[in-house]
This record gives sequence, structure tokens and C-alpha cells, in this order.
Amino acid sequence: MAAVFEWFNVDRAAALVALVAVVASTVYAHRQTRIARESTRIAREAKDDAKRSADAAEQQVKIAQDARDEAHRSADTARDMSRMEARRDHLNGAVKDVELLRVESRPHARLGRWELFGLFKNNGHRVYRYKIAVEYSGGVQTPSGRGIVRPGEVVSEHLLTEAPYDSIVVWFDGECPCDVPDDLDGHWRKSWPAPEPVVPDDEHPALQ
Ligand SMILES: [Zn+2]
Repeated sequence: MAAVFEWFNVDRAAALVALVAVVASTVYAHRQTRIARESTRIAREAKDDAKRSADAAEQQVKIAQDARDEAHRSADTARDMSRMEARRDHLNGAVKDVELLRVESRPHARLGRWELFGLFKNNGHRVYRYKIAVEYSGGVQTPSGRGIVRPGEVVSEHLLTEAPYDSIVVWFDGECPCDVPDDLDGHWRKSWPAPEPVVPDDEHPALQ
């Protein structure tokens, strides 16, 4: 025991303390290094995760954009289609549906004299309101009858003319899905060159 005390003098004690301090600080430094390395690894992983998330988000945005573009394209196509359909409906309207069967020369039921009557037939499926005018050379027009012609119906209209005329002009209004603006006189305009009037065999008084 005495030998131990002998060895363990002040200098050696100081050296031992210094050694313990060195060991302790080395252990501490190692630990700090390990913690720092671990922190770096965690930070790197977090960064990788964030990048993966960002990439995924970017991908989602791109998918959403593509879907939106596709939806726009579809909407455009649908709009074009419906516009074309509306245009076709318009062209298949009154101008195609209504025909002038003939012009008859008949004694007028009330006036007693021979008058001209136009017979118009609606071959379509829509109801049309119409307004007739008789056009003379030089473009002068005299308004004539107006009324409604239903699908399959034939209407007879007094043409209110006493002089040779050039053509019969009719404006029509009716249901149409198109965006063609209405003319002042109607949605469709159709004209027929004046046909030779027909005298009906029975010479019945005209329909009124
Ligand atoms: Zn139309």
C-alpha cells in the first residue's frame, strides 16, 4: 500500500488527471462526431425524401395539367361539334323544309275577282311563323300574308298582286339552335321566282 502511495505522488496524480481528461475529451469528440455524422445522414435522407416528394408533386401537377388540357381539347371538340350540328339544323330549317307547291289563280271568296294564291307546304318537323312579300322588278316589295305553318301542313296565302311580279319572298321564324343572328324580318329568308299560275280544275273559292 505504501508503495502505491509512493508511486502516486502529486506529479503522477496530475498526469493521471490530464490523461483522464484527454480520454474523456477524445470520447466526447468521438461521440460528437458520431452525432454529427448521424445528423448529416438524417438531413440527407430528409433532403432525399423532400426531393422525392417534390418530384411526385411535380408529376401530379403535370398529370393534372395534361388532364386539364385534354378536357379543354374535348370541350373544344364538343363545342365545334355542337356548333356544326347547330349550323346543320339551321340549314335544314325553313329554307329546306318549306316548299312553294304552286301559285293558283282563283276567284277570291270575298272580292269576287281572280286573285293569285301561293300554296306553301311545310315538309319538316318544326313550326314556322312566316311573312310573305311579293317582289317586283327593281326590288320593290309589297308585304303580303303572314301566319303559321305546322309540320305537314299546307297553307294558302293571297299574294296581293295585280301586276306581273318577279318573285315571292318569305321570311321564317322558328326554333333554331344556331347562333345566326335573326334578320330584321326573320331567321330564314327564302325566295322563289314567280311561277306560272295554275287555274285549279274545280275553281273552288280559295281557302281563307
Ligand atoms: Zn338558325
